[in-house]
Amino acid sequence: MSAEIISGKILAEKIRGEIKDDIEQNGYTPCLAVVMVGNNPSSAVYVRNKGKACEEVGIKSITVLLSEEATQTEVEDKVKELVSDGGIDGILVQLPLPAHLSEQRILSLIPPEKDVDGFSEYNTGNLLLGKKCLKACTPSGIIELIRFSGTEISGKHAVVVGRSNIVGKPVAVMLLQENATVTVCHSKTSDLKEFTRSADILVVAIGKAGFVTGDMIKPGATVIDVGTNRGEDGKLKGDVDFDSAKEVAGKITPVPGGVGPMTITMLMKNTLIAYKRNRKIDEF
Ligand code: NDP
Repeated sequence: MSAEIISGKILAEKIRGEIKDDIEQNGYTPCLAVVMVGNNPSSAVYVRNKGKACEEVGIKSITVLLSEEATQTEVEDKVKELVSDGGIDGILVQLPLPAHLSEQRILSLIPPEKDVDGFSEYNTGNLLLGKKCLKACTPSGIIELIRFSGTEISGKHAVVVGRSNIVGKPVAVMLLQENATVTVCHSKTSDLKEFTRSADILVVAIGKAGFVTGDMIKPGATVIDVGTNRGEDGKLKGDVDFDSAKEVAGKITPVPGGVGPMTITMLMKNTLIAYKRNRKIDEF
């Protein structure tokens, strides 16, 4: 039997519609600043897509482009300028930065209340403590997708494959907060299949096209494929082998059209949250 498709496109449209309505009806004026250093073509696409999404929901966006040769001080000064600008609610530095720059030093300049990517130590720490914070976009988009699919999380066994700071670890914490029993697997996990086959909810974020095959999935499981791997044919492929997985899983996200659209949507949501909190319309 073929699995039900969990459409990130449909959910993203719904949430973007809600954001747009909230902004229009209340006359809000949120603003997101995106800093891009150099001309990495993938980053340029992401930055353009973020700008388009902002426009669609009524968020003002500013893109700051710095040359590939920009010095650490130049980038830091630019970020500091954005930090002190009261009209800017969210700041995002597009990664990766050119190798001569210290990502960590630049990101650490963004204060928690403008950290719409949710990557700062403060927001990451608060997430772990279960406190209110700006949450990383991809993991919170994954939780929204699981809820949208009608999958019960509480009491279920969720297996996360991948332990990066931007996807695997935060999504594991969020699933734990939703009362799942969580197992985190990584490249040193022995007998990965034994774990993946016991997952009611399987989240795969490893960066290897088609790595998780149907025989690694528990029949009826909900499968979230985070992977975005560009094949030699130029097409995007997930970390899950969709054709074999869809015959076993109960519900599954496609690539493209699953997690991807949700990541940008959650960035829009975080920018609006930051706007409201910074203007005391909502509590921190
Ligand atoms: P990282 O490379 O930072 O982390 C990969 C993780 O996968 C690591 O924890 C690694 O383990 C683990 N891993 C690698 N190989 C295996 C294996 N054979 N078995 C088990 N675990 C393995 O990747 P990211 O988390 O940044 O991204 C993962 C994927 O998600 C990528 O394809 C990326 O493009 C995509 N992505 C998509 C987003 C979206 O919006 N759709 C957003 C962010 C990422 P170890 O720690 O031991 O090395």
